[in-house]
Amino acid sequence: MVEEVKSRIVVQKYGGTSVGSAERIKEVAKRVIRHRDRGESIVVVVSAMSGETNKLVALINELNPTGSSREKDMILSTGEQVTIGLLSLALEAKGCPVISYTGPQAGVKTDNSFSKARISQIDGTKIKQDLSKGKVVVVAGFQGVDAEGNITTLGRGGSDTTAVALAVALDAAECQIYTDVDGVYTTDPRMVPEASHIPKLALEEMLEMASQGSKVLQIRAVEFAYKYDMPIRVLSSFDEGDNGKSTLVTREEDIMEEVLVRGVAFNRDETLLTITGVPDQPGVAFKILGPISDANIEIDMIVQNIGEDGSTDFTFTVHRDDHDQAKEILSSVGDKFNAEKVGGVTNIAKVSIVGGGMRSHAGVATRMFEALANENINIRMISTSEIKVAVLIDEKYLELAVRCLHEAFGLDKP
Ligand code: ASP
Ligand code: MG
Repeated sequence: MVEEVKSRIVVQKYGGTSVGSAERIKEVAKRVIRHRDRGESIVVVVSAMSGETNKLVALINELNPTGSSREKDMILSTGEQVTIGLLSLALEAKGCPVISYTGPQAGVKTDNSFSKARISQIDGTKIKQDLSKGKVVVVAGFQGVDAEGNITTLGRGGSDTTAVALAVALDAAECQIYTDVDGVYTTDPRMVPEASHIPKLALEEMLEMASQGSKVLQIRAVEFAYKYDMPIRVLSSFDEGDNGKSTLVTREEDIMEEVLVRGVAFNRDETLLTITGVPDQPGVAFKILGPISDANIEIDMIVQNIGEDGSTDFTFTVHRDDHDQAKEILSSVGDKFNAEKVGGVTNIAKVSIVGGGMRSHAGVATRMFEALANENINIRMISTSEIKVAVLIDEKYLELAVRCLHEAFGLDKP
């Protein structure tokens, strides 16, 4: 029988910069103890110290970049193991009862897609036992174990996902993500200094923002939170005390004010592929795009032109990392179909506006197109959802596009 944990369970995740040095780790320990003293049961998820995972990636690339992904995960997962030990020692030094676990030890089960594994199950029994004994539990983010006992990693930035998944498994009150910024902004303040802080937004809006390129939270973490209604709070670990700003990402019902456009997201991660002059027949889309998904390559935007003279064109986008492989696949598909041409463009960027208020207001897309037209920015592709409009443009206009949209929707005025 597992004893019930009576106090409020909070999962706190600290990213690389928050645990980047011994000094920083001491600060984290202080904060954890402050929360524990308030009567909360704390589970801490940590990333590798900043720069460490990149160093491991560089070593891998030096030795054998095309080597087996199982061995790469064996290496990549080590950064986090260092941090859990260090933070636990720091907590111990301050008299705080603590135990550290690697992902596998914490019961984080995943599938076997090395380097982008998905969490399939978390058994929180052991952690709950520790919490009921008053311990702080420190868990390595970004890693898990597959059915065969192999160590897996969850994809870059994956510690966020560990934190949210643990929060769900432990039925925590909220999942706090401590990072080097004090929350989510209307756009990236490094690009637009007028960007304003967003105190509260809906999980669904955050999901769109993350999938459109906002880097504050890993997208899978937001997907998890959205699916299981787990509130996420983004805070800065650099704020002294606990009264700084934060962003609460929560259920739509808990958000009072619905806004037309919550933010402008962007990314340079996508590239474009085209195949022209393929037969306009049932099943072509499947035959052309099927092999791409079979190779585990995600396709984002897709456009098929109106067929002419029995033939048609497809244009779609994939992640920059997948561009070459996707193009190769597309070329061999193209040969089969006697396609006219297979081409690719890499210097493009995607800009999106996101907001729950779009559901009930028409004309948002038009306003976006007008703002871009006024700056003479050409739109290559458009895709929309209930709460998002995204356009693909030439990369060189990205900054201009983000600025003009931010202004057109009044996001610089808090
Ligand atoms: N250390 C891993 C990375 O750098 C995971 C994380 O930080 O969330 O991607
Ligand atoms: Mg991170």
